[in-house]
Amino acid sequence: MKEALEDLRRKADDEIRSAKTGEEFISIKTRYLGRKGLLTSLLRGLKDVTPEEKPVLGKLSNDIKKSLLEKIEKALEDITSSEKHSSLSKDRIDVTLPGRGVRCGKIHPVTRVEREICDIFSTLGFSVVEGPEVELTYYNFEALNIPGDHPARDIHDTFYVTDNVALRTHTSPVQIRTMEKQSPPVRIISPGKVYRPDSDISHTPMFHQVEGLLVDENITFGNLKGTLTFFLRQMFGSGTLLRFRPSFFPFTEPSAEVDIQCVMCRGAGCRVCGHSGWIEILGCGMVDPEVFKTVNYDTEKISGFAFGLGVERIAMLKYGISDIRLFFENDRKFLEQF
Ligand SMILES: [Zn+2]
Repeated sequence: MKEALEDLRRKADDEIRSAKTGEEFISIKTRYLGRKGLLTSLLRGLKDVTPEEKPVLGKLSNDIKKSLLEKIEKALEDITSSEKHSSLSKDRIDVTLPGRGVRCGKIHPVTRVEREICDIFSTLGFSVVEGPEVELTYYNFEALNIPGDHPARDIHDTFYVTDNVALRTHTSPVQIRTMEKQSPPVRIISPGKVYRPDSDISHTPMFHQVEGLLVDENITFGNLKGTLTFFLRQMFGSGTLLRFRPSFFPFTEPSAEVDIQCVMCRGAGCRVCGHSGWIEILGCGMVDPEVFKTVNYDTEKISGFAFGLGVERIAMLKYGISDIRLFFENDRKFLEQF
């Protein structure tokens, strides 16, 4: 009997040592100490032992029961407290941490400059008109005095959709669409996206233009110079020097390109201006009478001027950005500077 009790204690101790989960400990407790457990059934044999042995074996079995119970209770307590601890540390809230900030979006530098350009021309009475980006080639070329065999089409590499539909290469089609609907006087600017298949440090396949058109009686090249001088000095500062150079565009005659004194070196010559001290900033001219004829304007009575400029180019000069592609890479570190 004594040996059986000792044997039972050894086995139970072994099982307790290798048990890990709460369920395992509870099942050991039931198996050894439960009402139908191993120890209980062993003790039923006590009635057959001698009176001298009885108290000794009774004490031994009580000791075994007590020690097993203590070990199991202790193990269960450890499990509960470690579970509680791990769940508390998992869900821990550190009230001293600063709150999560709401990030605020910013206006893209190209949008910002486009709006600035529109604001300046609005103060001169120009209204803003928009048109389709997928355009009939008639509006993009023919109506602007650029027929199919015209060499000017070579400088306008084009994304064609079909033979007579293309992504517009400039915002000038809006001028034709406006004149078709409206008699003089006309005083509009048209900002928007334009497309040409170029990609390098100063070209992206999509970029932004703002073109302007003013048509009325007695409009001269002097009006054109005054308007653009006002605009460029608003944009780059009141002391900005500019010069008009003769140029060629199919839809204006005479035509000019306008340079401003280099904003980087103030005319001394640097890499940005190719050491000339001047930077080309826009194209302009008096509207070619051929263009007026396509919209049935009376060229004896009216005249007008038009101009076009690249928004990215102005933004690059204004903010000292050397690569146009940075505008469209969606790099937040770049964009957050503005
Ligand atoms: Zn320079």
